[in-house]
Amino acid sequence: MDTTLREGEQNPGTVFSKDEKIEIAKMLDDARIQSISVGMPIIGPEERDAIKAITKENLNCSVSALCRCNKADIDAARECDLSGIILFIGSSEKHMAARGLNEEKVMEMVGDAIDYSKDHGIVPFFAPEDATRTNFDFLYRLYKMAIDHGVPLIAYPDTVGVLTPESARDNIALLIKLLNVPVAVHFHNDFGLALGNTLSAYFAGAHAISSTICGLGERAGNVATEEVVMSLEVLYGIKTGIKLDLLYEIAKKVEKISGIPISPLKPIIGNNVFSHESGIHTQIIKKDPSTYEAIPIELIKRDRSFRFGKHSGKNLIQDILKQNNIEINEDDFNKLLNEMKDYQKVRTKYTSADFMSKYYEYLESRSLNEVDIINMAKKIVAR
Ligand SMILES: [Zn+2]
Repeated sequence: MDTTLREGEQNPGTVFSKDEKIEIAKMLDDARIQSISVGMPIIGPEERDAIKAITKENLNCSVSALCRCNKADIDAARECDLSGIILFIGSSEKHMAARGLNEEKVMEMVGDAIDYSKDHGIVPFFAPEDATRTNFDFLYRLYKMAIDHGVPLIAYPDTVGVLTPESARDNIALLIKLLNVPVAVHFHNDFGLALGNTLSAYFAGAHAISSTICGLGERAGNVATEEVVMSLEVLYGIKTGIKLDLLYEIAKKVEKISGIPISPLKPIIGNNVFSHESGIHTQIIKKDPSTYEAIPIELIKRDRSFRFGKHSGKNLIQDILKQNNIEINEDDFNKLLNEMKDYQKVRTKYTSADFMSKYYEYLESRSLNEVDIINMAKKIVAR
């Protein structure tokens, strides 16, 4: 269940246009992702317009959207011809208190919302927000009630990313044992554990995995679709049915339109993942890539690159010169090596500092802050 278009857009400063949403939805469908979550219809007419445009595409994947447990949200979703909706409500003490709710009220709202959806021909899924910090006894009763009202799948969201691989495994196994319905997991990456937790949950019996391309999502983001898929395929030998060779292309598209640069170190899709500098490694990799790369590059159609720097070693440089029929004496060769070193020193210093300050300036400028709003308001009032 890819949720790039819903959760991904909750990343500060990220806004997808209607055309961009359609484009990503089609790419995910082409990659044979089985289900996509595309937004929240209640947000407004523009959001509904984009969702409707996606549902009109008649994709093979199922297309769902998120609704709070009230009639207005469900009515907004009804306009959009969705395959399904996911009803959510904060169920932890903290979330209930923040909204002035209590256990009884939450139970009532969820039951009513499920009944209302079903009365209008939509069988919803149910996701108690902050489930992983919800009192387990209450969580169990809430799920049980939702299932008794006809919900065929429950989600277990780790909204603030506090699970560990052990608790993910144990909790999912227990929920499946107690409730005997398919469970979907939606895990956030606040401690960098989203992938480990997701795999633990999957092997404990979770039926569906919610994830986003590039891990795009609130705060530290979500488990990344490409990481889940590649781990299952390569590390566990499980056929996901997903077209691996399209994942990188989708990630680059999402990077471009979200405006969030992919970290060079990001697994699978990062710029550095298939580039090498070290001289000794480079020689070996040229002969057999698997010595230093665990991911078969041909699976995801990426290019390998070799970079030159202070680790490159004399042999590699000599090889390159030889391959290009350049004869060079020892003196000139040493001059070349020195020039290479100087070049890197100067370049790294100036461009890195300059680039980094511009980069953080850019990230800041992507969304409004309090000062921006105050200044806007002052201008409007002065008019
Ligand atoms: Zn989330």
